[in-house]
Amino acid sequence: MSWKDTFKKLLGKKKPVIKKSSFCEQGVYDLQQIFSEINLQYFSGALDLSIHWFGRKKTSRRIRRKVLGYYDSKNKRIKIHHSLNNSFYPPYFIAYVVYHEMLHSAEPPIQGLYKRKVHHKEFRDKEKLFHGYGQAKEWEKQNLEKILNGR
Ligand SMILES: [Zn+2]
Repeated sequence: MSWKDTFKKLLGKKKPVIKKSSFCEQGVYDLQQIFSEINLQYFSGALDLSIHWFGRKKTSRRIRRKVLGYYDSKNKRIKIHHSLNNSFYPPYFIAYVVYHEMLHSAEPPIQGLYKRKVHHKEFRDKEKLFHGYGQAKEWEKQNLEKILNGR
């Protein structure tokens, strides 16, 4: 191997080829850590819940807004969709989704006259107390198209 080839090889190693499809790094968020921080900051550490990823790690199928996350009150378990474990989603957005699901535990549904209210006024008021609320909502608005397409 010539010196030139060796040099080329070294250079090649320094410059990884970035494919468009893998541009956003997968597996970047630690749900347990995010949960613990929010629990301390907003709930005095009072929420005793478990948190997990769900869904396929890589999915080309559409995911709907509704399934970004959910709270399973029976098992006191929060589930966040795997597709969110990607640097495409800013940290404040992930934190907001986790906070929203935690709030379902702190502010349980209210039985109304005709139906159960899940996102009732008290819930919405508390939701706005989240530090990144405005930013997350704005980001969601700007990127909704991508979210709906399962990015
Ligand atoms: Zn909700």
